[in-house]
Amino acid sequence: MENKPAVQPSGRFKLKYRGVDCLNCGHPLELSDKYCPNCSQANSTKKLTLFDFFEEFLANYFSYDSKLWKTLTALLLKPGKITREYINGKRLSYTNPFRFLLSLSIIYFLIISFNSEFESYNKFGSENKKPIFDLNEEFDKIEFENEEERQLALTQMDSLKINRFFKNQISDKDSTILKDPKSYFKEINTENLTRRFLGKIDFFNSIIKHDTIYYFEQGVTKFEIPENRENEMAFNLANSFVDIEKRPGTFVNSLISKLPFTTFFFLPFFSFFIWMVYIRKKYTYTDHLIFSFHNQSLLFILLIVSNLINSVFNISSEGVFILIFAIYLYKAMRNFYQQGRVKTVIKYFFLNTIFFILGIIAITILIAASVFTY
Ligand SMILES: [Zn+2]
Repeated sequence: MENKPAVQPSGRFKLKYRGVDCLNCGHPLELSDKYCPNCSQANSTKKLTLFDFFEEFLANYFSYDSKLWKTLTALLLKPGKITREYINGKRLSYTNPFRFLLSLSIIYFLIISFNSEFESYNKFGSENKKPIFDLNEEFDKIEFENEEERQLALTQMDSLKINRFFKNQISDKDSTILKDPKSYFKEINTENLTRRFLGKIDFFNSIIKHDTIYYFEQGVTKFEIPENRENEMAFNLANSFVDIEKRPGTFVNSLISKLPFTTFFFLPFFSFFIWMVYIRKKYTYTDHLIFSFHNQSLLFILLIVSNLINSVFNISSEGVFILIFAIYLYKAMRNFYQQGRVKTVIKYFFLNTIFFILGIIAITILIAASVFTY
Protein backbone atom coordinates (compact mmCIF):
# COMPACT_ATOMS: atom_id res chain seq x y z
CA MET A 1 0.00 0.00 0.00
CA GLU A 2 1.33 3.37 -0.97
CA ASN A 3 1.89 6.00 1.64
CA LYS A 4 -0.20 9.01 0.97
CA PRO A 5 1.69 12.28 1.34
CA ALA A 6 0.72 14.17 4.50
CA VAL A 7 -1.76 16.91 3.67
CA GLN A 8 -0.09 20.28 4.17
CA PRO A 9 -2.23 22.63 6.23
CA SER A 10 -3.36 25.42 3.98
CA GLY A 11 -5.05 28.81 4.18
CA ARG A 12 -5.60 30.06 7.69
CA PHE A 13 -4.60 26.63 9.07
CA LYS A 14 -0.92 27.16 8.07
CA LEU A 15 1.51 26.55 10.94
CA LYS A 16 2.66 30.17 10.97
CA TYR A 17 -0.84 31.26 12.02
CA ARG A 18 -1.09 28.90 15.00
CA GLY A 19 -1.30 30.53 18.43
CA VAL A 20 -0.38 29.48 21.99
CA ASP A 21 -3.80 30.26 23.49
CA CYS A 22 -7.25 29.76 22.04
CA LEU A 23 -8.67 33.12 20.92
CA ASN A 24 -12.15 32.00 21.88
CA CYS A 25 -11.77 30.42 25.32
CA GLY A 26 -8.12 31.00 26.32
CA HIS A 27 -7.28 27.28 26.55
CA PRO A 28 -3.48 26.69 26.06
CA LEU A 29 -2.77 25.19 22.63
CA GLU A 30 -0.04 23.05 21.04
CA LEU A 31 1.45 23.86 17.66
CA SER A 32 -0.05 20.60 16.40
CA ASP A 33 -3.60 21.51 17.43
CA LYS A 34 -5.66 22.34 14.35
CA TYR A 35 -8.67 22.99 16.59
CA CYS A 36 -8.95 23.94 20.26
CA PRO A 37 -9.54 20.70 22.24
CA ASN A 38 -11.69 22.65 24.69
CA CYS A 39 -14.12 24.59 22.47
CA SER A 40 -13.21 23.29 18.98
CA GLN A 41 -12.60 26.73 17.43
CA ALA A 42 -10.01 26.70 14.61
CA ASN A 43 -6.47 27.39 15.91
CA SER A 44 -5.61 30.35 13.70
CA THR A 45 -4.51 33.89 14.45
CA LYS A 46 -4.91 34.94 10.83
CA LYS A 47 -7.22 37.88 10.26
CA LEU A 48 -10.42 36.79 8.51
CA THR A 49 -10.55 37.61 4.82
CA LEU A 50 -13.87 37.81 3.12
CA PHE A 51 -13.21 34.35 1.67
CA ASP A 52 -12.39 32.88 5.13
CA PHE A 53 -15.53 34.43 6.52
CA PHE A 54 -17.64 32.87 3.81
CA GLU A 55 -15.88 29.52 4.14
CA GLU A 56 -16.48 29.48 7.89
CA PHE A 57 -20.15 30.19 7.34
CA LEU A 58 -20.43 27.32 4.86
CA ALA A 59 -18.46 24.95 7.10
CA ASN A 60 -20.80 25.69 9.98
CA TYR A 61 -23.76 25.23 7.74
CA PHE A 62 -22.54 21.90 6.43
CA SER A 63 -21.62 20.52 9.81
CA TYR A 64 -25.15 21.30 10.98
CA ASP A 65 -26.34 19.98 7.70
CA SER A 66 -24.67 16.62 8.08
CA LYS A 67 -26.19 16.35 11.55
CA LEU A 68 -29.49 17.26 10.00
CA TRP A 69 -29.19 14.63 7.28
CA LYS A 70 -28.20 11.99 9.81
CA THR A 71 -31.24 12.87 11.91
CA LEU A 72 -33.54 12.89 8.91
CA THR A 73 -32.40 9.57 7.45
CA ALA A 74 -32.41 7.80 10.84
CA LEU A 75 -35.85 9.17 11.63
CA LEU A 76 -37.34 8.34 8.24
CA LEU A 77 -35.78 4.93 7.59
CA LYS A 78 -35.46 3.35 11.05
CA PRO A 79 -38.53 4.01 13.22
CA GLY A 80 -37.68 4.17 16.91
CA LYS A 81 -33.94 3.71 16.39
CA ILE A 82 -33.07 7.38 16.66
CA THR A 83 -34.78 7.71 20.04
CA ARG A 84 -33.04 4.63 21.41
CA GLU A 85 -29.63 5.87 20.27
CA TYR A 86 -30.29 9.36 21.54
CA ILE A 87 -31.33 8.36 25.06
CA ASN A 88 -28.45 5.85 25.22
CA GLY A 89 -26.05 8.76 24.81
CA LYS A 90 -25.43 9.11 21.07
CA ARG A 91 -26.46 12.73 21.16
CA LEU A 92 -23.91 14.80 19.26
CA SER A 93 -24.62 12.91 16.01
CA TYR A 94 -28.25 14.03 15.98
CA THR A 95 -30.04 17.34 16.16
CA ASN A 96 -31.56 18.11 19.55
CA PRO A 97 -35.11 16.64 19.45
CA PHE A 98 -36.75 19.72 20.92
CA ARG A 99 -35.02 22.13 18.54
CA PHE A 100 -35.76 19.76 15.65
CA LEU A 101 -39.47 19.67 16.49
CA LEU A 102 -39.55 23.44 16.99
CA SER A 103 -37.95 24.08 13.57
CA LEU A 104 -40.39 21.69 11.88
CA SER A 105 -43.42 23.24 13.55
CA ILE A 106 -42.26 26.70 12.37
CA ILE A 107 -41.83 25.43 8.80
CA TYR A 108 -45.23 23.72 8.95
CA PHE A 109 -46.79 26.88 10.39
CA LEU A 110 -45.33 28.98 7.55
CA ILE A 111 -46.56 26.54 4.90
CA ILE A 112 -50.14 26.41 6.18
CA SER A 113 -50.17 30.18 6.71
CA PHE A 114 -49.15 30.74 3.10
CA ASN A 115 -51.53 28.12 1.77
CA SER A 116 -54.55 29.51 3.67
CA GLU A 117 -56.77 27.04 1.82
CA PHE A 118 -59.63 27.62 4.25
CA GLU A 119 -60.09 31.23 3.09
CA SER A 120 -62.39 29.78 0.44
CA TYR A 121 -64.82 28.77 3.22
CA ASN A 122 -65.55 32.48 3.61
CA LYS A 123 -68.12 32.01 0.86
CA PHE A 124 -70.31 30.32 3.48
CA GLY A 125 -70.03 33.40 5.70
CA SER A 126 -72.94 35.76 6.33
CA GLU A 127 -71.12 38.53 4.46
CA ASN A 128 -71.61 36.68 1.18
CA LYS A 129 -75.04 35.25 1.81
CA LYS A 130 -77.71 36.48 -0.59
CA PRO A 131 -81.12 37.20 0.84
CA ILE A 132 -83.48 34.25 0.34
CA PHE A 133 -85.98 36.42 -1.40
CA ASP A 134 -85.16 39.71 -3.15
CA LEU A 135 -88.36 41.73 -3.44
CA ASN A 136 -86.93 44.26 -5.89
CA GLU A 137 -85.92 41.48 -8.24
CA GLU A 138 -89.42 39.97 -8.03
CA PHE A 139 -90.99 43.37 -8.51
CA ASP A 140 -89.09 43.95 -11.76
CA LYS A 141 -90.64 40.79 -13.19
CA ILE A 142 -94.20 42.14 -12.88
CA GLU A 143 -95.61 43.72 -16.01
CA PHE A 144 -97.67 46.86 -15.38
CA GLU A 145 -100.20 48.54 -17.66
CA ASN A 146 -98.48 51.91 -17.37
CA GLU A 147 -95.84 53.82 -15.40
CA GLU A 148 -98.42 55.35 -12.99
CA GLU A 149 -99.62 51.97 -11.89
CA ARG A 150 -96.05 50.85 -11.32
CA GLN A 151 -95.30 53.91 -9.19
CA LEU A 152 -98.40 53.31 -7.12
CA ALA A 153 -97.44 49.72 -6.42
CA LEU A 154 -93.95 50.87 -5.53
CA THR A 155 -95.11 53.39 -2.91
CA GLN A 156 -97.49 50.84 -1.45
CA MET A 157 -94.65 48.38 -1.08
CA ASP A 158 -92.42 50.98 0.52
CA SER A 159 -95.03 51.90 3.10
CA LEU A 160 -95.19 48.26 4.22
CA LYS A 161 -91.42 48.29 4.80
CA ILE A 162 -91.40 44.63 3.87
CA ASN A 163 -88.49 45.20 1.56
CA ARG A 164 -86.26 46.15 4.45
CA PHE A 165 -87.52 43.13 6.33
CA PHE A 166 -86.55 40.72 3.58
CA LYS A 167 -83.24 42.43 2.89
CA ASN A 168 -81.96 42.32 6.45
CA GLN A 169 -83.80 39.15 7.37
CA ILE A 170 -84.36 40.51 10.85
CA SER A 171 -85.45 37.73 13.19
CA ASP A 172 -88.17 38.10 15.82
CA LYS A 173 -85.66 38.22 18.61
CA ASP A 174 -83.60 40.85 16.80
CA SER A 175 -86.60 43.07 16.21
CA THR A 176 -87.62 42.86 19.91
CA ILE A 177 -84.13 43.92 20.89
CA LEU A 178 -83.93 46.67 18.29
CA LYS A 179 -87.34 48.11 19.15
CA ASP A 180 -86.19 49.39 22.53
CA PRO A 181 -82.56 48.40 23.24
CA LYS A 182 -82.23 50.42 26.44
CA SER A 183 -85.09 48.80 28.34
CA TYR A 184 -84.31 45.36 26.84
CA PHE A 185 -80.82 45.57 28.30
CA LYS A 186 -82.13 46.71 31.70
CA GLU A 187 -84.48 43.74 31.70
CA ILE A 188 -81.85 41.07 31.00
CA ASN A 189 -79.61 42.67 33.61
CA THR A 190 -81.92 41.37 36.35
CA GLU A 191 -81.55 37.66 35.38
CA ASN A 192 -79.13 35.21 37.05
CA LEU A 193 -75.49 35.19 35.87
CA THR A 194 -75.62 32.54 33.12
CA ARG A 195 -78.89 33.71 31.55
CA ARG A 196 -77.83 37.33 31.95
CA PHE A 197 -74.48 36.76 30.24
CA LEU A 198 -75.95 34.75 27.35
CA GLY A 199 -78.71 37.35 27.00
CA LYS A 200 -76.14 40.10 26.78
CA ILE A 201 -74.22 38.24 24.07
CA ASP A 202 -77.49 37.95 22.12
CA PHE A 203 -78.19 41.62 22.72
CA PHE A 204 -74.79 42.80 21.48
CA ASN A 205 -74.99 40.38 18.56
CA SER A 206 -78.17 42.05 17.27
CA ILE A 207 -76.86 45.54 17.96
CA ILE A 208 -73.57 44.90 16.13
CA LYS A 209 -75.32 43.29 13.18
CA HIS A 210 -78.14 45.79 12.67
CA ASP A 211 -76.86 49.00 14.20
CA THR A 212 -73.63 50.89 13.72
CA ILE A 213 -71.63 49.86 16.77
CA TYR A 214 -67.97 49.05 16.28
CA TYR A 215 -66.54 49.16 19.79
CA PHE A 216 -67.77 48.82 23.35
CA GLU A 217 -67.60 52.51 24.37
CA GLN A 218 -70.03 53.39 21.57
CA GLY A 219 -72.62 51.05 23.05
CA VAL A 220 -72.01 52.52 26.51
CA THR A 221 -72.99 56.01 25.43
CA LYS A 222 -75.66 55.10 22.90
CA PHE A 223 -77.62 52.56 24.95
CA GLU A 224 -76.67 53.67 28.48
CA ILE A 225 -74.94 50.38 29.22
CA PRO A 226 -73.01 50.28 32.51
CA GLU A 227 -69.26 50.12 31.82
CA ASN A 228 -68.03 46.98 33.59
CA ARG A 229 -65.95 43.85 32.90
CA GLU A 230 -68.97 41.60 32.37
CA ASN A 231 -70.60 43.85 29.78
CA GLU A 232 -67.34 44.40 27.97
CA MET A 233 -66.64 40.67 27.89
CA ALA A 234 -70.11 39.94 26.50
CA PHE A 235 -69.57 42.64 23.86
CA ASN A 236 -66.17 41.26 22.82
CA LEU A 237 -67.54 37.72 22.55
CA ALA A 238 -70.52 38.88 20.47
CA ASN A 239 -68.14 40.83 18.27
CA SER A 240 -65.99 37.70 17.73
CA PHE A 241 -69.09 35.66 16.88
CA VAL A 242 -70.17 38.22 14.29
CA ASP A 243 -66.68 38.23 12.76
CA ILE A 244 -66.55 34.43 12.69
CA GLU A 245 -70.01 34.28 11.15
CA LYS A 246 -68.96 36.77 8.48
CA ARG A 247 -65.68 35.06 7.56
CA PRO A 248 -65.61 31.51 8.94
CA GLY A 249 -62.71 30.53 6.67
CA THR A 250 -60.40 33.16 8.11
CA PHE A 251 -61.20 31.95 11.60
CA VAL A 252 -60.51 28.30 10.73
CA ASN A 253 -57.20 29.40 9.22
CA SER A 254 -56.11 31.26 12.31
CA LEU A 255 -57.13 28.23 14.35
CA ILE A 256 -55.17 25.77 12.21
CA SER A 257 -52.08 27.96 12.19
CA LYS A 258 -52.01 27.78 16.00
CA LEU A 259 -52.07 23.97 15.99
CA PRO A 260 -48.32 23.34 15.39
CA PHE A 261 -47.46 25.25 18.56
CA THR A 262 -50.18 23.58 20.63
CA THR A 263 -48.16 20.34 20.39
CA PHE A 264 -45.62 21.77 22.85
CA PHE A 265 -48.29 21.93 25.55
CA PHE A 266 -49.95 18.74 24.39
CA LEU A 267 -47.03 16.30 24.19
CA PRO A 268 -45.83 16.70 27.81
CA PHE A 269 -49.33 15.65 28.93
CA PHE A 270 -49.51 12.79 26.49
CA SER A 271 -46.07 11.52 27.52
CA PHE A 272 -47.43 10.90 31.03
CA PHE A 273 -49.75 8.29 29.53
CA ILE A 274 -46.94 6.65 27.56
CA TRP A 275 -44.94 6.56 30.78
CA MET A 276 -47.88 4.90 32.59
CA VAL A 277 -48.36 2.30 29.86
CA TYR A 278 -44.67 1.38 29.87
CA ILE A 279 -44.20 1.81 33.63
CA ARG A 280 -42.30 -1.47 33.93
CA LYS A 281 -39.75 -0.50 31.30
CA LYS A 282 -36.70 1.26 32.67
CA TYR A 283 -37.36 4.47 30.80
CA THR A 284 -37.69 7.87 32.44
CA TYR A 285 -40.42 10.37 31.71
CA THR A 286 -37.91 12.39 29.64
CA ASP A 287 -37.19 9.31 27.49
CA HIS A 288 -40.90 8.99 26.66
CA LEU A 289 -41.10 12.71 25.96
CA ILE A 290 -38.17 12.46 23.51
CA PHE A 291 -39.90 9.49 21.87
CA SER A 292 -43.06 11.55 21.37
CA PHE A 293 -41.00 14.52 20.11
CA HIS A 294 -39.36 12.33 17.48
CA ASN A 295 -42.66 10.87 16.28
CA GLN A 296 -44.34 14.25 16.23
CA SER A 297 -41.40 15.55 14.16
CA LEU A 298 -41.95 12.76 11.68
CA LEU A 299 -45.66 13.59 11.50
CA PHE A 300 -44.77 17.21 10.71
CA ILE A 301 -42.33 16.09 7.99
CA LEU A 302 -45.05 13.92 6.43
CA LEU A 303 -47.61 16.74 6.62
CA ILE A 304 -45.13 19.19 5.07
CA VAL A 305 -44.43 16.76 2.22
CA SER A 306 -48.17 16.14 1.81
CA ASN A 307 -48.81 19.89 1.65
CA LEU A 308 -46.15 20.37 -1.01
CA ILE A 309 -47.52 17.48 -3.08
CA ASN A 310 -51.02 18.91 -2.72
CA SER A 311 -50.04 22.33 -3.99
CA VAL A 312 -47.98 20.95 -6.89
CA PHE A 313 -50.43 18.30 -8.13
CA ASN A 314 -53.62 19.90 -6.84
CA ILE A 315 -54.77 16.78 -4.97
CA SER A 316 -55.34 16.00 -1.29
CA SER A 317 -52.84 13.42 -0.10
CA GLU A 318 -53.21 13.86 3.68
CA GLY A 319 -55.02 10.52 4.08
CA VAL A 320 -52.16 8.54 2.55
CA PHE A 321 -49.59 10.27 4.74
CA ILE A 322 -51.64 9.78 7.90
CA LEU A 323 -51.81 6.07 7.04
CA ILE A 324 -48.03 5.98 6.56
CA PHE A 325 -47.70 7.64 9.96
CA ALA A 326 -50.02 5.09 11.60
CA ILE A 327 -47.84 2.23 10.34
CA TYR A 328 -44.65 4.09 11.25
CA LEU A 329 -45.87 4.69 14.79
CA TYR A 330 -46.48 0.99 15.35
CA LYS A 331 -43.01 0.16 14.04
CA ALA A 332 -41.46 2.87 16.21
CA MET A 333 -43.18 1.50 19.32
CA ARG A 334 -42.04 -2.03 18.53
CA ASN A 335 -38.43 -0.98 17.96
CA PHE A 336 -38.13 1.48 20.82
CA TYR A 337 -39.94 -0.43 23.57
CA GLN A 338 -38.97 -3.88 22.29
CA GLN A 339 -42.21 -5.65 23.20
CA GLY A 340 -44.14 -8.42 21.44
CA ARG A 341 -46.75 -7.77 18.74
CA VAL A 342 -49.85 -8.39 20.87
CA LYS A 343 -48.74 -6.18 23.75
CA THR A 344 -47.66 -3.46 21.33
CA VAL A 345 -50.97 -3.57 19.42
CA ILE A 346 -52.99 -3.24 22.66
CA LYS A 347 -50.85 -0.36 23.89
CA TYR A 348 -50.92 1.20 20.42
CA PHE A 349 -54.73 1.35 20.37
CA PHE A 350 -54.94 2.45 23.99
CA LEU A 351 -52.46 5.30 23.45
CA ASN A 352 -54.16 6.38 20.22
CA THR A 353 -57.51 6.58 22.01
CA ILE A 354 -55.92 8.70 24.75
CA PHE A 355 -54.30 10.81 22.04
CA PHE A 356 -57.67 11.52 20.41
CA ILE A 357 -59.41 12.30 23.71
CA LEU A 358 -56.58 14.66 24.74
CA GLY A 359 -56.64 16.10 21.23
CA ILE A 360 -60.34 16.93 21.44
CA ILE A 361 -59.84 18.56 24.84
CA ALA A 362 -56.88 20.57 23.51
CA ILE A 363 -58.79 21.70 20.42
CA THR A 364 -61.79 22.73 22.55
CA ILE A 365 -59.52 24.82 24.76
CA LEU A 366 -57.87 26.27 21.65
CA ILE A 367 -61.21 27.20 20.06
CA ALA A 368 -62.46 28.80 23.28
CA ALA A 369 -59.23 30.75 23.68
CA SER A 370 -59.33 31.78 20.00
CA VAL A 371 -62.90 33.06 20.23
CA PHE A 372 -61.99 35.11 23.31
CA THR A 373 -58.99 36.66 21.62
CA TYR A 374 -60.32 36.87 18.04
ZN1 LIG B 1 -11.04 27.24 22.82
